Amino acid sequence: MNFNHYFTNDELTAILSGWAAYYPSLVVLSSLGKSHEGREIPLLTLTNQATGPDTDKPAIWIDANIHATEVAGTTTALHIAHTLLSGYGTDSRCTRLLDTCAVYLAPRLNPDGAELALAALPKYIRSGTRPYPFDDKADGLHAEDMDGDGRILQMRIPDPNGDWKVSGLDPKLMEKRGPDEQEGSFYRLFEEGRIENYDGVQVREARPRQGLDFNRNFPFEWQPENEQTGAGPYPTSEVEIRAVVDFISRHPNINIAITYHTFSGVILRPFSTRPDDKMDVNDLWVYELMGERGKEITGYKCISVYHGFRYHPNEVTTGAFDDWAYDHLGIFAFTIELWDLPGRAGIADRDFIPWFRKHPHEDDVKILRWLEANAPADALVGWYAYNHPQLGPLELGGLNRMYTFRNPPHALMGEEAEKNTPYALALADMLPRLTLRELTATPLGDRRYRLRLVVENSGFLATNTSGQGQKRNAARPVRVELTLAAGAALLTGQWRTELGHLQGRSNKLDVTAHYGSSPTDNRAWTEWVVQGQPGDEIGVALLSDRAGNIRTSVTL
Ligand SMILES: [Zn+2]
Repeated sequence: MNFNHYFTNDELTAILSGWAAYYPSLVVLSSLGKSHEGREIPLLTLTNQATGPDTDKPAIWIDANIHATEVAGTTTALHIAHTLLSGYGTDSRCTRLLDTCAVYLAPRLNPDGAELALAALPKYIRSGTRPYPFDDKADGLHAEDMDGDGRILQMRIPDPNGDWKVSGLDPKLMEKRGPDEQEGSFYRLFEEGRIENYDGVQVREARPRQGLDFNRNFPFEWQPENEQTGAGPYPTSEVEIRAVVDFISRHPNINIAITYHTFSGVILRPFSTRPDDKMDVNDLWVYELMGERGKEITGYKCISVYHGFRYHPNEVTTGAFDDWAYDHLGIFAFTIELWDLPGRAGIADRDFIPWFRKHPHEDDVKILRWLEANAPADALVGWYAYNHPQLGPLELGGLNRMYTFRNPPHALMGEEAEKNTPYALALADMLPRLTLRELTATPLGDRRYRLRLVVENSGFLATNTSGQGQKRNAARPVRVELTLAAGAALLTGQWRTELGHLQGRSNKLDVTAHYGSSPTDNRAWTEWVVQGQPGDEIGVALLSDRAGNIRTSVTL
């Protein structure tokens, strides 16, 4: 399968149906719901059905492409699914994960937006196609592929009051005009597009007609439009987001979540709105440890949005997926921003967002050189004449941002996915997992038997996932239920017994770990005395919301 590719909705549907047909015991293809325009939002449930249904197993959630143009996430999600499926039976990790866990994988949450982004004449919007906040087309410049070449580039117009000039380092590049610079030729730059209700004088940026940002529509500290652009009229107002929130809320077996976005090459974690000292301390240590594994595997560093990824120093983003999943449900959720063009060009140590506002012009040259050497097909487009129907003769050119900054150039997409898949699998290997250590029936005479049960959590995370999960009461404790054969009787103990939450290894990160303390707080046991006939079967159901269920029996 070629992963140096961005998959259209039709291609995606064909691949997912193909997998469901080819691997019927490992894949179930379903729909999370319908998009605003009525497209199915595909969901793969990946698990070996022969070892139990997905709902009896601990799970990880993986989604992608909630933002219309961030199609690299879809290719990455497909790469993860393909790795698991093709590795089942040969690769020990893929086999273990599909046998013992469930992976819920939604490779494209926003099929309407992706349809536009991948069209022959593309249109780039933030998220969904439902007009918002108003249904009219506002006055001003709307991006559009004016010359129909499949690219939305930049328009360059000579203007003595322009704020750009031709670069002194490479004439293909544009450079910012200095504050005292008076002599020379200057230009204005606009995104390639058309002006609604043009008055012949002003070229303003228009309010986008499709101004929703789905990743501001989740029910975590949701704020209205004047506080948070794109938030939607109320939390989960958008059908796509409602579908995600419904599904995850109904699947308490989900402990970890990844949402794939672009770009920057960074693993983002909560909170977006609060500093780290507002997070449960042990959860913070767990997040940091998970993030360090991410850095080792992908090369991306892991930072909190609040501390390292804010668009404006005085503003925070609200209504985001990862904050909602962690804060409301105690799920360890990550937003992985795939692909880092400046980083690949050697501009590694920088503040992610401030760099875009201000950086040395030499950085632009580095990026151009790197693109020319590594992705010539997607590199900078030289300026060429175009007769604009409203603005007259001008030039089109510059970067096709969609396949340079926003997504990897086509030739480099597969490599980016390959780098990220092992991290998703590593996170899945951190799930809590309920296992049976001992289940015995010892005869006591007079048709009486002592039943003894010892259970363990074999996973890294606890059966409540996180301190936040515990605080929110998001997951019930581990419990055991007996089903007696007809005629059998329980003499001591109760048919339903609560065993409490079981720790994993994630609570052993504090300073006492230094002294080698490794308590067995991942185990629990209980006993009953039952009366019955030899050969009677006693059903034993071990239930945990987050760490899986075990349904077994013991024979007297
Ligand atoms: Zn995004």
